[in-house]
Amino acid sequence: MDLFEFQGKSLLSRTGVAVPEGRVARTPAEARAAAVELGGRVVVKAQVQVGGRGKAGGIKLAEGPEEAEEGAAEILGMDIKGHTVRVLWVEKASDIAAEYYVSFTLDRAARKHLVMLSAMGGMDIEAVAAQSPEKVVRMHVDPVLGLTNWQASELVYRADLDRTTARKSAAALRSIYQAFVTLDCDLVEVNPLILTKAGEVIALDAKVTLDSNAFFRHPDFEAFRDDFTPDPIEEMARQRDLNFIKLDGSVGIIGNGAGLVMSTLDVVSLVGGKASNFLDVGGGADAETITNALDVLTNDPTVRSVLINIFGGITRCDLVAQGIVTALGDLDLPWPLVVRLDGTNAREGREILGTVVSDRVVAAATMREAAEQAVALAGGH
Ligand code: GDP
Ligand code: MN
Repeated sequence: MDLFEFQGKSLLSRTGVAVPEGRVARTPAEARAAAVELGGRVVVKAQVQVGGRGKAGGIKLAEGPEEAEEGAAEILGMDIKGHTVRVLWVEKASDIAAEYYVSFTLDRAARKHLVMLSAMGGMDIEAVAAQSPEKVVRMHVDPVLGLTNWQASELVYRADLDRTTARKSAAALRSIYQAFVTLDCDLVEVNPLILTKAGEVIALDAKVTLDSNAFFRHPDFEAFRDDFTPDPIEEMARQRDLNFIKLDGSVGIIGNGAGLVMSTLDVVSLVGGKASNFLDVGGGADAETITNALDVLTNDPTVRSVLINIFGGITRCDLVAQGIVTALGDLDLPWPLVVRLDGTNAREGREILGTVVSDRVVAAATMREAAEQAVALAGGH
């Protein structure tokens, strides 16, 4: 699970990483109040789960409450790479002397943690790594030993961070590593980790991805979800016990079982199309489940055709077909359907479907044929 910057910073501070003091704000008035409480210059920052907010205009420096309120009004509602800004983080502004980059991830192949450190933080690290790879120092951390003091110092030395504050930088690296390990993170990226003019080392940004498989060890992490505004279609699907994930193509996919849905996505992509979503109706889907799934997809304007791929086991294909027939009667489906039924009661299912087959409802015999038809009906992509 990806966290917002302010959530990530709150976790980092648990293991002693220094972060600027700040407040969450959801309205310009709250941003003003936050600036009053914090005092002095503040930075108003869009909270979205993508990087590059600065470049997109999602970060504004404010001299005081007045400007904080104005900045907040500009940033709220802004679209940053497809994410609408609904939450702000207002924090005390920092006087930056240097911007570093540091990240911790798991290197599965090496069975170790990987740390990357650079004195060229604050910018796009992929670009730095591409243009001057020697400026990004990589080192493995033995998970048994942890990030030792000597290793942290060597990193600071090799990445050529400021020498006079090397001890503080090394200590900050160890605190960040501590958060990464003890809080079961998949990723902790701090870009920039700054050196202030007063000689302090502070995490100015935080990109933290939690390992949701470890949530049982951190019951308090569930509260992070309360800060997310769920996607309305995902929420609608969740309420109906359907698994819906938005993708960026045009062929809507309905299948039973995550494995079948994933292979359907693969086949759609193999024949040159792109899936608009992933919708798993799960095991034991009945007529109502299928009408519900189709109803959910009618809310997604990017769908151009829908491919229903069912392999009957516990799920009975005749019930699925019945659900499709009901949906055709009750709902105003704005796109054509391609249906492939196989497994339990497939013959009965196809017979029921036969009564409604038209140029808007296509029955396909194989998964590949179904994918080809659905992609063609979606306009070839
Ligand atoms: P990102 O663009 O989403 O990565 O957001 P960051 O939080 O990393 O901020 C981007 C840049 O804004 C930083 O690299 C800084 O140069 C600048 N910035 C952010 N906060 C402050 C601050 O408190 N003071 C100053 N002077 N600059 C800041
Ligand atoms: Mn950043």
